[in-house]
Amino acid sequence: MTINIGVIGTGAIGADHARRISKTLIGGKIVAVNDVNISQAQSLVDELGLSATIHNSGHDLIHDDGVDAVLVTSWGPTHEEFVVAAINAGKYVFCEKPLATSAQGCRNIIEAEMQAQKRLVQVGFMRPYDSGYLQLKNAIDSGLIGEPLIVHCAHRNPSVPDTYHTPMAIHDTLIHELDVLRWLLNDEFVSAQVVFPRKTKYAHSALADPQIVLLETKKGVRIDVEVFVNCQYGYDIQCSVVGEEGIANLPEPQSLLLRKEAKLSNDILMDWKDRFIAAYDVELQAFINGIANDKLTGPSAWDGMAASVASDACVKAQQSQQIEPITMPEQPAFYH
Ligand code: NAP
Repeated sequence: MTINIGVIGTGAIGADHARRISKTLIGGKIVAVNDVNISQAQSLVDELGLSATIHNSGHDLIHDDGVDAVLVTSWGPTHEEFVVAAINAGKYVFCEKPLATSAQGCRNIIEAEMQAQKRLVQVGFMRPYDSGYLQLKNAIDSGLIGEPLIVHCAHRNPSVPDTYHTPMAIHDTLIHELDVLRWLLNDEFVSAQVVFPRKTKYAHSALADPQIVLLETKKGVRIDVEVFVNCQYGYDIQCSVVGEEGIANLPEPQSLLLRKEAKLSNDILMDWKDRFIAAYDVELQAFINGIANDKLTGPSAWDGMAASVASDACVKAQQSQQIEPITMPEQPAFYH
């Protein structure tokens, strides 16, 4: 069985996902593409040698009868519109993070999906598919370190463009921690605070960098996340869970341990695309398999909304410099 897939947004990650579906994964075929920049869509079709329709709009692609499922990998503010349209057309849809740029946008998607009476949405949170995070989760769930008490995290990028501003540290960067920590701890956030340390000279005027986000969960776990997006030295993701009986750390990505010229060293990755490359493959294969089995299993629209509710509170905390409550609505049975 082959799932015919249409891609809306053929930028960095849209093109990468199209490549992996065409060259690495099984059971999916790119049959349609769209981008506001039509020549970009055309070059992807040429690069991959696809026989795919290039649509003038995302909506035309969604309503193409030859398209079974849609990948929304366009710019964040367009996600809600395309995801709702795909749901209303009765099509499975994989949406890159963020599901929508506000919690209200996510609620609109949830409403549409519940009206469709079927789970049609998978959100592109790939960390729960990463083998390192799976080992960490296994350590927690098996009781290996006792109950988790504290989590220390860091999300560091070498640099960001001038278009990246202070709230993006939350809704573009921290959003991955906001999703993976709920999953890892099987817990919900109840409050957020953001602290601004001394600013690096590498950040431009509209960006406070680094930032420290302090989160508290329903079970009382305290979490600190350092978001530092001009750290210069690499793309570095850290997560250390302090439990009652031990500490479990996210494994470092595999790299050559080198002894040379009186130094013992490991390379650190620079590009986010490389850090979770295997997890992207697994998440998209899970999406294709889910469609083939008529049952999606990956991060749901509810998970997308939960991250978005927490993200909104963190942005508010950046501005207010107060501890802000995070209030999650009751999860409907539909998403259990
Ligand atoms: P990107 O390179 O800018 O690609 C986005 C593409 O969408 C661009 O080609 C853009 O065209 C196009 N586009 C914008 N509005 C559109 C519309 N209305 N209809 C069709 N196409 C439209 O960005 P990216 O880095 O690939 O990011 C895309 C999404 O993926 C973002 O939401 C981002 O947060 C997410 N993402 C997730 C991960 C992850 O780890 N899961 C990693 C990277 C990105 P123009 O350039 O001409 O505007």
